[in-house]
Amino acid sequence: MRWFLKFGPLRRAWLNLERFPPFFRVVFSRDGLVSAEGRQLIFGKCRRILISSVPPLARLLQKHYGIEGSCDSCGASCNLLFQCPHWDTKTRLCSVYDDRPNICRLFPITPADIRDRDLVNRKVGCNFAFTQPDRPLLPVPLPLAERRGRAMPALPPRSSS
Ligand code: SF4
Repeated sequence: MRWFLKFGPLRRAWLNLERFPPFFRVVFSRDGLVSAEGRQLIFGKCRRILISSVPPLARLLQKHYGIEGSCDSCGASCNLLFQCPHWDTKTRLCSVYDDRPNICRLFPITPADIRDRDLVNRKVGCNFAFTQPDRPLLPVPLPLAERRGRAMPALPPRSSS
């Protein structure tokens, strides 16, 4: 065992780095940038890497879209785009569960993550779900006429006397 693996943060960084070679191998393979599905999964992976690097933002997004459910260890997210080197094919569980990176801890962050996940396992659905998958990120501005109507309530009709 490498000496630095005894130190939590170094161990976690190393375990995370070990996921990069299979990632880059698949990106430049037939299943990567060349195919539409591959591009979707690459884009999704990059999106999750970025968002999960700011966990409060990831949790905010999960709440925004109404996350519910829990992980039932189907293994789909561990095989998104490539098979994670830490995924144990016999037990079908994560072999470094306590040290897994944020991208795994926080999965799924947005409804798009479930769509990506469903490309890997089409037969069994994810045990997580979002109750408001179509909720816009920012408030949708009301049409001008509607805004004017709200700002100035209609005046009562004038009496003829
Ligand atoms: S949770 Fe899955 S994807 Fe994440 S490190 Fe463990 S095996 Fe790999």
